[in-house]
Amino acid sequence: MKTLEQYLEDAAAAHGHLCAGQVLGVRMAMLGLKKLGLEDPQGKDRKRIVTFVEIDRCATDAVMVVTGCRLGKRALKFRDWGKVAATFVDVETGKAVRVSAKESSKALARSMYPEIENKNQQQMLAYREMPDEQLFQTQSVHVELPPEELPGFKGERIVCSHCGEGINFRREVRHGAKVLCRACAGERYYEPIV
Ligand SMILES: [Zn+2]
Ligand SMILES: [Zn+2]
Repeated sequence: MKTLEQYLEDAAAAHGHLCAGQVLGVRMAMLGLKKLGLEDPQGKDRKRIVTFVEIDRCATDAVMVVTGCRLGKRALKFRDWGKVAATFVDVETGKAVRVSAKESSKALARSMYPEIENKNQQQMLAYREMPDEQLFQTQSVHVELPPEELPGFKGERIVCSHCGEGINFRREVRHGAKVLCRACAGERYYEPIV
């Protein structure tokens, strides 16, 4: 594993700026991987990690930098819960740990650097220094990961009987004998405009 400083450099480059969220995300992922005993996320352990992120904000970009987990590798899962939290899964051992940011860390940052008015600057400094226990809550958890959720899964490709679009990776929905894509089955997030 790289050092905090090295990861922060990588994260700033990937995310476009250094911010409190980058510090939080880098430390969150470093702690999660440490708890799982995974020391080489970009090297020998790179195929073992699946990460669930719970927010689409700054910290998530940093989590991706440290773990190497990407949406396009099916190694990154997004649960839109609005929480600064992530669960790191070692798919080889089945061990998993959920790490969430403590709400109290904001107040603690304020008390550490009361002279700095800018919240982002204040938290950026404080979050680098705070011990893990003050910044995060960690919990060992079990995550059910069926084969189609794992990075290497290859399944047969199926065609939706309604719209005719192809569906990979067992994302089809079966209604009796009918095979539908999730949009045609009613989960559509868009409305076609005629
Ligand atoms: Zn940011
Ligand atoms: Zn369809």
